[in-house]
Amino acid sequence: MARYTGPSCRLCRREGQKLYLKGERCYTDKCAIARRGYAPGQHGQGRKKLSNYGLQLREKQKAKRFYGLLETPFRAYFEKAEKMPGITGENLLRLLETRLDNVVYRMGFASSRKEARQLVRHGHFTVNGKKVDIPSFLVSVGDVVKVKEKSISSAKFKELAEAATNVPNWVQVSFESLEGKVVALPTREDIDIPIAEHLIVELYSR
Ligand code: SF4
Repeated sequence: MARYTGPSCRLCRREGQKLYLKGERCYTDKCAIARRGYAPGQHGQGRKKLSNYGLQLREKQKAKRFYGLLETPFRAYFEKAEKMPGITGENLLRLLETRLDNVVYRMGFASSRKEARQLVRHGHFTVNGKKVDIPSFLVSVGDVVKVKEKSISSAKFKELAEAATNVPNWVQVSFESLEGKVVALPTREDIDIPIAEHLIVELYSR
């Protein structure tokens, strides 16, 4: 699947806020937002008032970048969210949160969503005992995500587990056995990313 391969920090600078795309570096003073917190490019430091459309577009771009998605799959999630009962914007965020790569990141088994996606692709995880190497796999309530037996001894997972702190309350994690269970679907309050999802709905409803 196609994906963005350019510099991650440039995306944060474009959105004017941290998107936490590079793991530990994002929490240090090496973060590009801390050092050059203005948009990239020749006119990046100029002030620009955004139109309504511009605001909606930026919000959509920000959400895509948080979750590391390109336009086509993101749009497909929106269309799926529209058909679900409930509030479309919240459905959209819930779908994005329940992607396996995001769940691995939320459980603390990766330092960023990008790393989580790579680990999933490399086959380091099982879901309910079966190997799943598809980052877009949607987990359900009751699913158990586990680091594969062969990978458990890897120093990488040990370090990540020791560093892990904020696990959201819709997952339960055991860092001894390196496994986590989805105990509920995330509510809007559980999803801590700063996205005004109604702007995305407005954009796609034009
Ligand atoms: Fe974004 Fe992390 Fe780069 Fe900072 S270090 S600009 S948060 S990707």
